[in-house]
Parts: sequence; structure tokens; C-alpha cells
Amino acid sequence: MKAEIVAVGTELLLGQIVNTNAQFLSRECAALGIDIYYQTVVGDNEQRLMDSLKLAASRADVVICTGGLGPTQDDLTKDVLAAYTGRQLVLHEPSMEAITDLFRTRGIHMVESNKRQALMLENSYPLHNENGLAIGVAYTYEGTHFILLPGPPKEMKPMFSNYASAWLRTIMTDEVPLYSKMLKFAGIGESNLEYQLIDMIEAQTDPTIAPYAKEGEVTIRLTTRAHTAQEGELNIQATEEEIRRRVGDHLYAERDIPIEATILQMLEEKQYKLTVAESCTGGLLSDMITAVPGSSQSFLGGIICYTNSLKNKLLGVPMEVLEGENASGAVSAETAILLAEGLLTTTGSDLSISVTGVAGPSPSEGKPVGLVYVGLAKKGAETKVVTLQLSGTRETIKIRAAKSALYHLWRLLKEN
Ligand code: ATP
Ligand code: MG
Repeated sequence: MKAEIVAVGTELLLGQIVNTNAQFLSRECAALGIDIYYQTVVGDNEQRLMDSLKLAASRADVVICTGGLGPTQDDLTKDVLAAYTGRQLVLHEPSMEAITDLFRTRGIHMVESNKRQALMLENSYPLHNENGLAIGVAYTYEGTHFILLPGPPKEMKPMFSNYASAWLRTIMTDEVPLYSKMLKFAGIGESNLEYQLIDMIEAQTDPTIAPYAKEGEVTIRLTTRAHTAQEGELNIQATEEEIRRRVGDHLYAERDIPIEATILQMLEEKQYKLTVAESCTGGLLSDMITAVPGSSQSFLGGIICYTNSLKNKLLGVPMEVLEGENASGAVSAETAILLAEGLLTTTGSDLSISVTGVAGPSPSEGKPVGLVYVGLAKKGAETKVVTLQLSGTRETIKIRAAKSALYHLWRLLKEN
């Protein structure tokens, strides 16, 4: 099956926004086994949009439009598809009720144009909008399957992933769509993971096994062909079980989320509060944690104690430990433990992590670049310390140190 993406919006043509919707949709279509032959961008102009739809319909089985579903006069996509197919636009009652309710609860006057967001083509299939008001549309006309999605990515993505892709599966009758599952691993490098699975990777048929790595995490995508998620899971089951048997200790999620998201879920379930003390990561660990929505439920905050003086003043690490001829130094197991424990005492959190190391490019305290200590303190338990010897540039060492700290915290939470 071939698809074409039509991104609608004059802002795109003026270079005011980047067409990230096309990138997302192309990737999602590839994952479904749908080929994209063309990506089109067209402005908010009735005639040119009509021409684009006609051209797309002449060369693709599926035409996916994004943008122009809003309430204003330049939002034309539904009107143009209605004109092209000769259908009426009708009110989708549940959307209309949602719009009316929203305006009522906010106490704002609703103008006539807001109704436009609840319009859909008669006899079309409505696509629910979880994060906005405009209803999406799926409609088949003279053998071409049209999908209309809103422009804002936070509305478009869930509408596609949760509703439009399921509709696409139902129309892919002559071919079996791809079904894939992500397995996410931490605390193991890509080459090591591949080494442990090499016989399976070399002998792969169905499902296919594709490993790929980002800094600090490795993903395996298992792909098969299936009409439903249930059928897909069944095809994947035996392979997934064997992977779990071999490297399951490092598997932290079955979907594409960072390890910090999994950790925050675990912290919330256990009602634990977390704090961090960062030296060589300079706030990166806190940044990763706070990038997850809702992190304030479990993350109390962090201290960037970059200098010895702050390690001492804020977290009570004795200067004799940090400096002097026979001192352990700032980059040491002892300091990592004292930082983590100092943090528990100072903040009253249940758990704390400390990271201290040499990010480079030059050695420090006579210690090699990439040497990092991670301290993990838990109320009422013995403090643990992990020694890491990381490689890479200053930037990668910082990322790897933060990700490794998260991996060890995840293990601690899993064991408890
Ligand atoms: P709205 O109800 O916000 O008007 P809409 O469905 O009418 O939504 P547009 O008016 O075309 O969509 O675009 C709204 C916003 O969505 C744009 O300002 C832009 O931020 C974002 N957007 C639109 N199209 C794209 C795209 N192709 N890629 C990335 N972002 C986009
Ligand atoms: Mg708009």
C-alpha cells in the first residue's frame, strides 16, 4: 500500500515552522509497512489544496493530511475534502457537546466558528482528539483512503497512534500490516546485547529482531505481520521469551520510554521521594528526571555541588575527605557515599543518588577521565556505591554517567 502525506499550512511554506508532522507520519507508516512515495506541503489556499488532494489521490492509496482542522477561516481541509468528494459536512454530536462543555466550564463565550471543529464528512469515520477540540476524519472515496489530522503535534500524534493507525489496519485487507514491539534495555551496551543474542539475530525470520542504540540505552524492535495487536503479540511471544531469558535483567520497558519514566512510576507506586547530588553531571540527571511529566510527585530536587566547598557546605562532606595529601578526594567512593547520605539527612527524602567523577577532557586529582562513582542511599539501608569507568567525550561521559546512575537506581528499586 502506498501513502502520501499532505501537510497543510502557509506557515510551513514561509519557513516559520518545521514539518515535523511529516517526519512522524512517515516513520509510523514505515512501521506499519505502508510505503510513502510523496510528501507534499501546500498553503492554506482552497484551490491549491484541492489540486494537491486530487494529485495525491491519483498516485496513492492513502492520503494523510495534517493541519487546517481548526475553527478559523484559513482552516479549510475538511471543507475542501467535502467539496472534492461531494459530501456534506455534518455535526459530530459528541464533539459538539465536548466543545460546548469546555466553553461553559471556562465561562467563555462560544462563537459560531468554534462549531467548525465538530464538523465531519457525512458517513465518515470520526477520529477522537484526546488533546484538543477538532475531530479528525477517516473517509474512503473512489478507492482512496483519506485521513485528516489536526496540525498541532500534541493532538496529531495520539490521534494517529491511537485511532487512525487502527483504522488503517482494518483497510489493509490485501496485505498484512507490520506489527512491532519495542523492548528497552539499560545498563548493557549495544555490542554486548547483540553478542548475547547473535545466534537469534543471524537466524531471524519472523519476527525480525533489530537492535539500535542511543546514548545510555539500547532498543530492540521486534517486527512481524499481523492484522491485530493480539495476533502480533502471539507471533512475537516465543522470541520475546527467549530474549527475556537471556538479557531480561536489563529490560526496563516494553515501549519506547526512557528509564527515568519507568523509575518515576516505581517511585510513585512505592511512595518514595527522591533527591540527587550532582557533581560531574552538572544538573543533567535532574534535567532527565524533570523532563518526565508528573516528576514532581516523587522528585524533591537536586543539588549541583560542583566544587569541594559546596560539597562541604551543603552536604557536609568533611574537607579532610575532599582535599589533602592522604584524602580520598572528590572523585572517590567515600565522597559518593557521604554526598548521598548527606542528602538524605538534609532533605529527608527516602532515596538519594550522588554522582561524582571526571568528565574530562583532562584527568583530575590524578584520576583518569571517565572514572565515575555513583552513590545510592536509602533510608534504613546500607548505602551502595558503584564504580564506573566510562569512555567518550566530555558530553558523552556526562550522559553515560547520568544514565548509569539511573540504571543502578532502577535495579535497587526492582530488588526492593
Ligand atoms: P488549530 O486548531 O491549532 O488551528 P489546525 O488543525 O487548524 O489547528 P494549523 O492551524 O494548520 O492546524 O496549525 C496549528 C499549529 O500546529 C501550527 O501553528 C504549528 O504549531 C502546528 N503545526 C501545523 N502543521 C504542522 C506540521 N506539519 N509540523 C509540525 N507542526 C505543525
Ligand atoms: Mg488552524
